[in-house]
Amino acid sequence: MVSRVIPVDTFDLVIFGGTGDLSRRKILPGLFRRFVAGQIPNDARIVGAARAEMDDAGFRDFATAAIREFIGEAKRKDEDVQRFVEHLQYVAIDATGENGWPRLAELIRKDVIQAFYFSVAPFLFGDLAERLHRHGIATANSRIVVEKPFGRDLVSAHALNETLASHFTEHQIYRIDHYLGKETVQNLMAVRFANILFEPLWNARHVDHVQITVAETVGVGGRGAYYDKSGAIRDMVQNHMMQLLCLIAMEAPYRFDPDAVRDEKLKVIHALEPVGAEDIVRGQYRATKEAPGYITDSENPTSTTESYIAMKVNIANWRWKGTPFYLRTGKKLRARASEIAIVFKEVPHSIFGDAEGWRENVLTIRLQPNEGMNLTVMIKEPGPGGMRLTEVPLDMSFADALGEEGTDIPDAYERLIMDVIRGNQTLFMRGDEVEAAWRWTDPIIAGWEARGDKPKAYDAGSSGPEDALMLLHRDGRRWREIKE
Ligand code: NAP
Repeated sequence: MVSRVIPVDTFDLVIFGGTGDLSRRKILPGLFRRFVAGQIPNDARIVGAARAEMDDAGFRDFATAAIREFIGEAKRKDEDVQRFVEHLQYVAIDATGENGWPRLAELIRKDVIQAFYFSVAPFLFGDLAERLHRHGIATANSRIVVEKPFGRDLVSAHALNETLASHFTEHQIYRIDHYLGKETVQNLMAVRFANILFEPLWNARHVDHVQITVAETVGVGGRGAYYDKSGAIRDMVQNHMMQLLCLIAMEAPYRFDPDAVRDEKLKVIHALEPVGAEDIVRGQYRATKEAPGYITDSENPTSTTESYIAMKVNIANWRWKGTPFYLRTGKKLRARASEIAIVFKEVPHSIFGDAEGWRENVLTIRLQPNEGMNLTVMIKEPGPGGMRLTEVPLDMSFADALGEEGTDIPDAYERLIMDVIRGNQTLFMRGDEVEAAWRWTDPIIAGWEARGDKPKAYDAGSSGPEDALMLLHRDGRRWREIKE
């Protein structure tokens, strides 16, 4: 299969926070990979901007080191890295002062696409947006890219939206949720809406329940103080898991068009029922002989923040009434695995009687590791032993199915940055979507605070707190095993 690289028009991309962690780990390596794929036009310019004094050469060295660190040797040639960094320039700039802005104004071309990546703390967004206008840098055609966290509740998210809206229209604002940039997540839409097979079954009549799991093996060490203010619900559920849930549950948009897709996702969020305390389990990993617990990692001895959450979510609409969506995510779990499992109902009547080995059909969409899909179907166990059933997987690993291309899936950030340049907002969150998601999570958090809720302890390397098992057991169901 030959990879098709769709050319983009030339651009000036400014990375505010260009010397930060996100730029180093994701943005610069991602741009390099697009360069290797032939997608960065010859005269495109990438400008790093931060307060530290540095010249262009210093920023090029920084980018070279980042690419060497985060891109495997087999995937980078030194001459490519050298040619790529020739696109880079640097401006020392202070988001909250006047230093550097006139220089940026001279540098940025008005007649090409301009993208401004706000890879800085959200409290600086307003300053950046205002100065981009005051110094005559931004035009009606400029795009701005903002990162999570987008607020920490409805009030702060609304205020952030208002701040950005006073300088840019909604069509200029690209709110990144990098889960939406993952190949498999987009494939979820392709599977649903480009095949006749699944859609007729995609409803409460045929789907017993849905499980969405995002399990990590790492703890919060290193970013504990930041994480302690958010916890799993703000860090994962309100954004990434909510987006996955929306893509599974939404109606078919009339077209694969940014607002058509986002309108359908928004309707799902509006249809979410409030979640009662009995339908949520919060957890916090405890210390083991080998490793410190959350309390140490978060540097907060009295922390009641959750590093794990499991919840049962009901969607009150015709398609999904009666089919629960179970969500769970956590740190320091037994394996790093993210997957969506659509668990179908039993056949209405078994003509095989109590045939041994019967299992429900499950469509699994694996986000990581080894992106791909798997559908389990029942067949007769081979051999003369009578009609015994056995489950076989129709397994499609992208790596196996698509050959080299399957192993060379663009990172979410690469795809999303190129979508910004193309002006395609389909995979970005709209302001009203973000606010609706907070409107749903705020009462959950307020309930914990009012009750003084404390998370349940779980061991590092386990599947999470025992109570999370009960969340499904009491409904006669079980979680799928967390495995890589
Ligand atoms: P970081 O490592 O702390 O970097 C912050 C960057 O902003 C640095 O380049 C810093 O350089 C610059 N900066 C700080 N104050 C500034 C000012 N007043 N004017 C201009 N530049 C300023 O942060 P990060 O981890 O890259 O995160 C950036 C944003 O992405 C945050 O909103 C974060 O929540 C979000 N995010 C990060 C990740 C990640 O993996 N790192 C993932 C998701 C979202 P100077 O100090 O030299 O100015």
